Amino acid sequence: MRKRLLLLAVLVITATAVSQSCKGNPQEITQSGSSFADYVKGDTKVAVSSATTTSDNRRIESIERSFDGDFATMYHSAYENTSTTYFPITLTYNFKDADKIDYLIYNPRQDGVNGRFKEVEVQYKLKGQTDYTSYSSFNFGGSSSASCVSFDGGLVHPESIRLIVKSGSGDGNGFASCVEMEFFKATTEVDPAFSIFADKLMTTLKPGVTQKKVDKISNLFVKTLATQILSGKYSLDYRLADYKAFKNPSTLGAELHIGDGYSQYENMTGIYLPKGKHVVIVDNLAKGKQLSLWIPRLTNPDSWGIENVGFALKNGLNVINNTSWDGLAYLNYYSETPEKENVVKVHFPLAAVNGYFDITKQNDQDFNRLLDSAVGPILDCRGRHIQVMYPVSGLKQYAYGRGVELISNYDSLVTRQYRVIGLEKYNKVPDNRILARVNHAYYMFRDGNGVAYKYDVMKLVADPKVVISGDPCWGFSHEVGHVHQLRPYLSWGGLGETSNNIVSMYVTRSFGVKSRLTPYYQPARDSIIGRNISYLQDKDVFRRLVPFWQLQLYFASEKGGYKDFYPDLYESLRHTEDVEPAWKNGIHNLTEYQLNFVKKACQVSKTDLTDFFEKWGFFYVGSFDIDDYGAYTYTMTQAQADVCKAEIAAMKLPKPKDKTTGLELDLTQLQD
Ligand SMILES: [Zn+2]
Repeated sequence: MRKRLLLLAVLVITATAVSQSCKGNPQEITQSGSSFADYVKGDTKVAVSSATTTSDNRRIESIERSFDGDFATMYHSAYENTSTTYFPITLTYNFKDADKIDYLIYNPRQDGVNGRFKEVEVQYKLKGQTDYTSYSSFNFGGSSSASCVSFDGGLVHPESIRLIVKSGSGDGNGFASCVEMEFFKATTEVDPAFSIFADKLMTTLKPGVTQKKVDKISNLFVKTLATQILSGKYSLDYRLADYKAFKNPSTLGAELHIGDGYSQYENMTGIYLPKGKHVVIVDNLAKGKQLSLWIPRLTNPDSWGIENVGFALKNGLNVINNTSWDGLAYLNYYSETPEKENVVKVHFPLAAVNGYFDITKQNDQDFNRLLDSAVGPILDCRGRHIQVMYPVSGLKQYAYGRGVELISNYDSLVTRQYRVIGLEKYNKVPDNRILARVNHAYYMFRDGNGVAYKYDVMKLVADPKVVISGDPCWGFSHEVGHVHQLRPYLSWGGLGETSNNIVSMYVTRSFGVKSRLTPYYQPARDSIIGRNISYLQDKDVFRRLVPFWQLQLYFASEKGGYKDFYPDLYESLRHTEDVEPAWKNGIHNLTEYQLNFVKKACQVSKTDLTDFFEKWGFFYVGSFDIDDYGAYTYTMTQAQADVCKAEIAAMKLPKPKDKTTGLELDLTQLQD
């Protein structure tokens, strides 16, 4: 099983032309698929006449590549980025005789992260001016989403707009890159027919608008929408909704000391957008904030990762042109401070509704109804901690009538992880969700977007009873365990496929699944204790896991009487650098993490575990190489080991005892 569970360390969003959009006017697509977007006057792209940059990659990825209209080429700053003055990098775009620019769209690369903009200051110079005026500063966060900067009232007769990039994604100091920088003039020709709507989101009509009046309107979009509203049959379910911002998954990861893997598709819409033009109406997006629409594809047999196409959105009417594939729509709305962001309102007029299942609001009848009426091949399901994108066919076959049970079980799988790693006890459970999705390329794996299962193994992951039993329960727990691996304080070299299994063991055992470690205890003792080696010198990741799980077997049982051992230990490890800021400066060798773990395990449990750790080789003096998704060298000196032991001795703690008998215990003998 383990061999089939692969860790994909990289974030995978495969290349596709990221398209633009911002403002515009509407379109539609009814179930019949007719498009109304042509009745909505779009915005005009303003041509760039020339551009300059203060840094590029030897003219190979020159600034011209960022306005050649080709989404397959890009601008990239110099590859040599070690200088402390590498940033800022200024990109200046010039315009000839442009009468107005209302907004710009920055389209970041999709084939990698290097150079995606983070902090940017936007400045402009109007005709006749000699100096630049600073418009505002933004943080695009290194996002893969297109970002939109709207100029209040528009820039009249702009001569130049420059972006002063102050930071970007990438190793070392980072880089700056851009697939396309686009500039637009908003349309001023709004069809007067639009004035019949009473609200900005075009969900109601002004008083006195009758069918007779509507019949005279030539704009087919307005006419169709108004007719449906008048009929009283126009359903706003899913088509109109409020969306709140979620914490940026990478910020969340940094705060909790965990990896990528939280959903980048939190705001599901339940709207199905086939290829073609679509109208999206947005309201209440705050100035300078970014909102975009994502349409992912999960069905490419050649792509493990989620392929995605994104469109920047602005307040008002947006026309998007989806030339990529049919799919469900998600609103990408993330922030460092989600609690401070506006709730945005979005209307997809006349759009095809697939719907989504929300366990906090719906029951099994709703679940069945959604499956029976789905217009696309995938149904979104939302739990409290889980988000599922599985095929309608698989859900029908294995979960029909049991949607609540299925999503509850997934929630429970995640909740138990929060419990053992202390997020529940310390009130740190995130609002964000873990995404479990279907894919068409590989059996089962985890990547920066969560956990993925191939379409033909749905019987293992869509049957509510099966997901909490045996291998499927282990598989999910193992993969989500990777997301929750505590970095770096409990994931030093050699623990890549081990420390995540502390949570897999906890979750599976709590569901009554038999212990996966049973066959490994004696071989581990023979191999590691018997040969006086470090647990990290044993090549088997399950034998390496034995000491970590024995701590749980002891403390969480009546013998140890301390069921919060791991929750408290994880919390203590999370605070390592708060207590000792020197840790922020980095470490010399992985053994420092290992000894930090040893010391804190004694500290939080108020137990002298020196003998136990000694036997398992946590004080092993010597040097050896470890191959574990990278090359590591273990090096421990006698002095290092002695200092740690002395620190533990100074705590004057009792040795582990069986609290039910009062007798001293050799924890290396414990097993389940
Ligand atoms: Zn793994």
